[in-house]
Amino acid sequence: MERRFSEAFADYVGVSHCIPMASGSSALVAALAALDIGVGDEVIVPGLTWVAPAVAVTAVNAVPVPVDVDKGSLCIASEAIEAAITPRTKAIIIVHLYASTCDIEQIKAVAERYGIYLIEDCAQSHGTIYAGQKVGGHGHIGIFSMHQGKPLTSGEGGAACTNDPELSARLEQLRANGRRHRDPPARPGEFDLVEIGDVLGTNMALSEFQAALLLDGLARLDEQIAHREAALAYLEMSLGDIDGVGTVSRPEQVDRQSVYHFPVRFDPESFGNAFPDQLAEYLTAELGLPWACTYPPMNRNRLWRASEERRHAVNDQHRSAIFEFTDPLSNCAEIHRTTVIVHHRALLAEGKKMEAIPAAFRSAREHFHSGRG
Ligand SMILES: *Cc1c(COP(=O)(O)O)cnc(C)c1O
Repeated sequence: MERRFSEAFADYVGVSHCIPMASGSSALVAALAALDIGVGDEVIVPGLTWVAPAVAVTAVNAVPVPVDVDKGSLCIASEAIEAAITPRTKAIIIVHLYASTCDIEQIKAVAERYGIYLIEDCAQSHGTIYAGQKVGGHGHIGIFSMHQGKPLTSGEGGAACTNDPELSARLEQLRANGRRHRDPPARPGEFDLVEIGDVLGTNMALSEFQAALLLDGLARLDEQIAHREAALAYLEMSLGDIDGVGTVSRPEQVDRQSVYHFPVRFDPESFGNAFPDQLAEYLTAELGLPWACTYPPMNRNRLWRASEERRHAVNDQHRSAIFEFTDPLSNCAEIHRTTVIVHHRALLAEGKKMEAIPAAFRSAREHFHSGRG
């Protein structure tokens, strides 16, 4: 099953190799290790994201450098990346966040100009197509998470994709203690892994059971993306008509957008200076489905904090560098103050029900405006 999923997902993403992994986090660690990133290296990550990219960088003893995002798309900004590059920068991890896609062409140009690796974190964007190519196939390695809330899921799970056969061989060994699948495949009763040992690995393998769930989910993914995309178009149009409410932008090269969370931007002044958690609470009660705030900026994220643990004490300079922020992440802070999000399952509702969402924003506007004038 795992080999069948690997082939099916490589085919789906449009890359030559897919290595299934236990999680998106392990795929990130394996990607960094496959690129031989380690002590003394810096890796640029977005300042607005789930913490996994930065955590993975510390797992290989490199230093994560969070930088600001684009105010329109909420995704990492190419100018912020370029400003943060130093002679120690080895890679950039970009995250296609929520319901948008990074400016891949511009970021790729920066990576190429400075000779830096590009890792695409597609944990939230399975099936997005940018300039005719699915995400996960634009950089040196693309990683995916199949955690329970993600657009394709097996409860826990992940994958790393690449077009480079050498990186693929390293990724395979990294996730199976230096072993690779037999080629040709094992016969019944034969053990499927052979010992290679080019690189020191650990166990980050996906189980057969999860692979079976993913094969099944993959068969429905395109239909679900199409359903959500129609909902996305409707919501972006209808919410755009409300004063003080807006949605995210995306690069014109995006041919198809997969959605993880749907973000709605609001102008606090139009909502009686309400905070996003207050608006989210109101919308949750009104719509009967949970709305929430975005991730906090990395420099204010309680899941990303200075740790006195000895595993980070490569040396004093390293330990303080991990949690140092050179970029103030001001766009991340502004986005966090002015955005609420809802999970993609809301976009799978049938047509008429979707009208409740713009209606709830109109009533929230009245509620907060008159309540606080
Ligand atoms: C979910 C997520 C991950 C981590 O995936 P896990 O499978 O939970 O380890 C990494 N990056 C981003 C952007 C994510 O949203």
